[in-house]
Amino acid sequence: MARLARQSPAAVEIDPESIGIPDRPTWQSFPALTAAGLPHGFSLRTRCADRPPLVRDLGIDSDCLVEAEQTHGNGIAFVETPTPLIYPDVDGLLTECRGVALKIRVADCAAVYLFDPEIPAVGLVHSGRKGSEAQIVRKAIQGFRSRWGSPAERLIIQVSPCIRPPHYEVDFAQQIREQALAMGVRSLFDCGICTACHLDRYFSYRAEKGITGRMWAVVMLPP
Ligand SMILES: [Zn+2]
Repeated sequence: MARLARQSPAAVEIDPESIGIPDRPTWQSFPALTAAGLPHGFSLRTRCADRPPLVRDLGIDSDCLVEAEQTHGNGIAFVETPTPLIYPDVDGLLTECRGVALKIRVADCAAVYLFDPEIPAVGLVHSGRKGSEAQIVRKAIQGFRSRWGSPAERLIIQVSPCIRPPHYEVDFAQQIREQALAMGVRSLFDCGICTACHLDRYFSYRAEKGITGRMWAVVMLPP
């Protein structure tokens, strides 16, 4: 029996084995980022909530991973080296370093990927209800401009699966899209998928009453 089912009364209702949740972690990719040649992934649900996805399946060395502490704020850090592994007090990471893979963990909140193919530079932001209210995606777009002179029109932005109405009362994916469009972003992609609608593929903090796993969003500049 999956550990998830033992831990969570809510999860028992969906019986991970009966609906075909894989035991081995797999990754979702986004066509716009694939077309841009950007190594990336969004991990799909596995039977064990605490089983980390294998980033090597994305061609990424796990030693290269850096992550944000994720305090539901709007802090952004510029990553210069693969250390420290966890950046405190931030919910977004931006880098122009090849060989550094950015990681954000989500279950209902959105992971937002940002890419300027000309610098090239890449970013990953955790934007849920609070972070979207605090306009972290707008701050990240400003970060690209201040650090690298990236015009918003050049950025490619992808919004991951996240919880959406009617499963959640706030449409923060729409807030994210509005922030990006207001900044002048043209290449804006939202997968449109609701995590709580697809418990066979995603963990949902809300739908599973807080006892669940996390998806990993990972991105890295091409070699
Ligand atoms: Zn839904």
